[in-house]
Formats: sequence, structure tokens, C-alpha cells
Amino acid sequence: MADEQVDIDGQTSSGQPESFGFQTEAKQLLKLMIHSLYSNREIFLRELISNASDAIDKLRFEAIAHPELLEDDPGYRIRIVFDADAGTLGVIDNGIGMSRDDVIDQLGTIAKSGTGEFLERLTGDQQRDASLIGQFGVGFYSAFMVADEVEVLTRRAGGESGTRWRSRGEDEFSVESVDDLPRGTRVILHLNADSKEFADAFRLRSVVRRYSDHIGVAVEMLEELPAPGDDDEPAEAPEPQWEAVNSAKALWTRSRSDVSDDEYKEFYKHVSHDFEDPLSWSHNRVEGKLEYTSLLYVPKQAPFDLWNREAPRGLKLYVQRVFIMDEAEQFLPLYLRFVKGVVDSNDLSLNVSREILQQDERVTSIRNALTKRVLNMLDTMATKEPDQYQGFWDEFGEVLKEGAGEDFANREALCKLLRFASTHEPGATKNVSLDAYLERAGDDQEKIYYVVAESFENASSSPHLEVFKQRGIEVLQLYDRIDEWLMSGLTEYADKQFQDVARGDIDLPEADENTDEEEAASADDSGLTERIATALGDRVESVKASKRLIDSPACLVLGEFALSPQMRRMMEAAGQAAPESKPHFEYNAKHPLVVRLDQEPDEDRFDQLVRILFDQAALAEGGTLEDAPAYVDRLNSLLLELLSD
Ligand code: ADP
Ligand code: MG
Repeated sequence: MADEQVDIDGQTSSGQPESFGFQTEAKQLLKLMIHSLYSNREIFLRELISNASDAIDKLRFEAIAHPELLEDDPGYRIRIVFDADAGTLGVIDNGIGMSRDDVIDQLGTIAKSGTGEFLERLTGDQQRDASLIGQFGVGFYSAFMVADEVEVLTRRAGGESGTRWRSRGEDEFSVESVDDLPRGTRVILHLNADSKEFADAFRLRSVVRRYSDHIGVAVEMLEELPAPGDDDEPAEAPEPQWEAVNSAKALWTRSRSDVSDDEYKEFYKHVSHDFEDPLSWSHNRVEGKLEYTSLLYVPKQAPFDLWNREAPRGLKLYVQRVFIMDEAEQFLPLYLRFVKGVVDSNDLSLNVSREILQQDERVTSIRNALTKRVLNMLDTMATKEPDQYQGFWDEFGEVLKEGAGEDFANREALCKLLRFASTHEPGATKNVSLDAYLERAGDDQEKIYYVVAESFENASSSPHLEVFKQRGIEVLQLYDRIDEWLMSGLTEYADKQFQDVARGDIDLPEADENTDEEEAASADDSGLTERIATALGDRVESVKASKRLIDSPACLVLGEFALSPQMRRMMEAAGQAAPESKPHFEYNAKHPLVVRLDQEPDEDRFDQLVRILFDQAALAEGGTLEDAPAYVDRLNSLLLELLSD
């Protein structure tokens, strides 16, 4: 029998076990996972093999500079052993291993930032929680789904003594020093009553093939010899040999036509630590001046830390098939931080560092090419599978908008990918592309009209939309945090200018120009404009009869280049000084209130009424009043007058 199998419990301990409590978050997560992922227990093996493979990748890399770390065992392998009678199962690797401190840190705490917040979002609804936990990637702890007790024996490559970690997955774990361990890690599971089925060669082989075939290192099991027949000589039983159960060829090095969708999906789970299938992927080998292979994935769900700027991101970098680093963020722009995958370069040197990556021109070219690849992949999805793309947009649209605002080289491609809510569609569904908008608008319409507001409700009821609604002109409704910033950078798409409906003058196509202009002109003549301007004084930049309003008496319009109220608030919140800017006041000459106002002989009363219209205009577009109590006072004295008449 092979040594691993007999040695499972054979180490001599040198010291007393010391107990530690699991970090609170780790404990919570452990409990939740056991319950919510229970129906898919077999993935524990994928997680343990994935960790073993990561550990081997790390040693391979460190051994480039420090070959002595390999000691006298230059090969790399993962082995799976089991004992059906004892109900134990072991996953053994000869990778980098862990020091005592590593063990305590890495197997006792969850270092990911934002874990607390993440846990608060769990609802108790099993199905939902399972998918949330999946995104979180809980790796090692999945062992407790099948085991009453988990034991980890490990020695860091080059380290002196080893460590035994043991836990029943409840509140605590124990750690003790152990002598004479080979380098690497063995994880031993004492299977629970429901999971004895895993101590079975056939079952294990099929799980390994299903989930871990793509791993670039051999996963070995002892070969199965036919049971000796009754009349065989008992003397010469042959020794079973180790044999690889997986194909042990790194998936991205294979040709596309050789890799099945299921294999791509499993590989994604290995690189991303996500439990869900990816939404889409793109696998390419580039030859020529630069030679590299990339395998890029778009996830289905946004990770919980998408908006945490410090969150790890980037691709796994390999150089000539040797793992170099995780989270090489230099290969994609920040706005594609949700993309996962691998890049394997033939040109970079094995000892590249993050600093070198930052300056290397070859990295810049690869990054430009990979960016285009991802945008192409998204464009294809948008064209061929619009429903799937919609799912993508709902998860990642706001991040992609960062790109449309800052990546000038790819702006056209990014604009094509944008989706907005629009007055054409009922409800707050962000599914209108600029191309669809322009197709409906027709050639006569010169501009792409949009409104920016703080919420969908405000973007739907804004007085600025009235004339557009009346004339059936579509307006895009923007209400994401980032939209104001986005639109301050976008000026045109497909030769059409973007036009904020709350800004500047608007020239509408197919308007009954004559009647409108005439009415506006006659109102101007009447001196009403003059009177209002005097009443509002330096609160406004200008006053005029409006062409935008149908139902509302008045609205505020921003200058073409003035800062919007949202932008102003953002700048002020960030402690920046926002330049002063005054709105233009537009009134609706046909509105009964305005008609009545025009006939008001009492100047003081006229002033009060105009101030009320002014404040209401700010309120109607979701703004705030400079002096709200004064507004309430004015309105109340008017109401009193009315009621006491
Ligand atoms: P992840 O793989 O996402 O980091 P896991 O829960 O799977 O999370 O593993 C936690 C950590 O424990 C790993 O990041 C690694 O540092 C350590 N670890 C787990 N298994 C091994 C192993 N076989 N060899 C070395 N380190 C390991
Ligand atoms: Mg893991």
C-alpha cells in the first residue's frame, strides 16, 4: 500500500494542541454554507483540489528563484486517498504548504473585506442565500458539508516543522506542531454519516473528472486491481500504482475545439472562486509579434465587492504555462474589473513583478487587445442574445458606463453597449440602446434627448419632458449615480449631439413653430417677462416664455454649460468648491396660473406668487429649496387669504 494511505494518522505530535476560536464571520459563513449548499455537496472535492492546485502553482513559481524549496521531490502532484472502512478521505498535495501562522490565519478567518456587510445581506431564503454564498466563494469550508471533522496536516516548503489543524466545524479549531511531514498539505476528512458514499473509488473518479479535469497538474488515485478470484494463489498480489484521473493539461493550452462548454464552466469556477456558471467567455491564442493566450470570462452576477475600489481584481498571469501571480490588474482597465480569467504570455520573463508589468509596453498592447476582446464579446452577446445581455447590463451596466466616460479609444464601442430607460418604454427597464433610439427617432431628429434625475420617478415626471411627451419624441431617462458624470463627457454618438432636456434652448423637430413662437412672442410683449424678471431679481440668469411646458406653470433650465444640481451636490459632498450658477426661469404663458398672474395688479402679491412658482419649479424636478420655511409661509398666507375670502 502507498505510504499516504497508512500515514494518515501516523505523525508524532511535538507539543500540546492549542485551541483557537473561529472568527465570528467565519463561523456564520460556515453554518450558512453547510445548510444552503448541502444539496450540491460533491463540490467540496473541487474546492479542495482547486486549493491544492493553487498551492502547487505557487510553489512552482517560488521554485524558479529558490529551487531548493523542492527539496528532493521535484515533481508536482495531487493525490486522493480513501478508506471506506474508516470513512476517511484525503486530498494530498506537494505544493507550497502552510506555516503555523498561515494555518491559523487562512483556515480560521475570512480575510475578504466586506464580509460583515455580505452576511447582513443574507435573507434566510435558502435558494437566494446559496447563490450569494456562491459568489462569495467559500472554498475550504465546504469540506464541512461532508465531514464531521476535518484535519489538515501541512508543512511549508523549506519550513522546518509541520502543523496539524483540526476542527469539527463548530466554534473552534486546534493547532499543534507535528514532526516529519512531507512538504505540502494533506486535508483529511472524517466523513459524516450522510457522506460515506464519497469513500468510493468510482464516485471519486467521476467527481474529479466532472469538476477538475482542467487542472494543470495530475490528480492521482491508486489504480483499481481486479479482486483476486477464489482460486488465485494468495501469494503474489501486485502493488496498485498511482494513475492520473484527470487529463492534467491546463485548459487554456488546449485548442478551442477540444474543450467542451462544461469544461469551460468548471475552469471558470476554479479561477474565479465563483460557484455559478459564467455568462460568457472568450478563448484566444495570439501569435506574431506578441504571443499569448487569453481566456476571459464574464460572470453572471456582480460580486458583493464590485464597488470596493480596493477589492482584488485582474487576471491570473502565467508565463510560458508557469503561474506567476493572481490578480494581475494591469491587463484590463478598471472598468472591466468584473472580468475573470487567465492570460499566459510567451514573451514576458518568469520573474516579472507588478512594478515591471506597470511599465511594460507589451503589457499595454496586450491590455488594449484584451479590452477590445471583451467589448467584442459583449457586443456579440448584445446582438445574438439580447436577453442574456440585458442580464449582464443589469448587473454591470454602471461599471461599463465608467468606461464610456473615460476610455476615449473605445468610446464608440462602449456607447453601443449602453442601455437606458426611455419614455418609449413603460417602467424603469434599462433596455434601450442608442442605436434603437436613433432608429426610432429617424433622420429628421438632430439630437439625442435625455433627462438626468435622481430617481426614475423624477426622470418620468420632470416638467422638462412635457413638450416631448406631447410631440411623441423619445427621451432617455438617466438616473444612475454615475449618469451626470457620464453625460458631462459624452457629446455625440453617430453624429448626433446629446441634448439634456433641462438645459439651454431646445429646437424641436416638426414643431408647429409658428403658433408657438407667436404665443411666446406675444407673452414677451405683454411685459410679463419683464415683471417676473424684476420679481426674481438675481435669483435667475434670465426669464422667458417657455417652449417646453404643457401642463406645468414654470420650470428651471440650466445654462448649456452650467453645473447641474446633482453635480453640485456631489462636488460639495467631496469638499470641492462648486462654481456659482443661476438657472433660467421659463414660464408657461398658457397656464391658467400664469394667465391669472399676468392680471395681478398688486405688485407685492405678484412677487409672492412668482416666488412660489419659482420654488415649485425647483421642487417639481426633485430639487431642494434654499429657504423652505419661507416657501411654506408664502403658501400658507395665500391659502389663508383664499379661505377667508
Ligand atoms: P480561496 O481558495 O478562495 O483563497 P479557500 O477557503 O479555498 O479560499 O482557502 C483559504 C486559504 O487557505 C487559501 O487562500 C490558502 O491560502 C489556504 N489553503 C487552503 N488549502 C491549501 C492547500 N492545499 N495548500 C496551501 N494553502 C492552502
Ligand atoms: Mg479555494
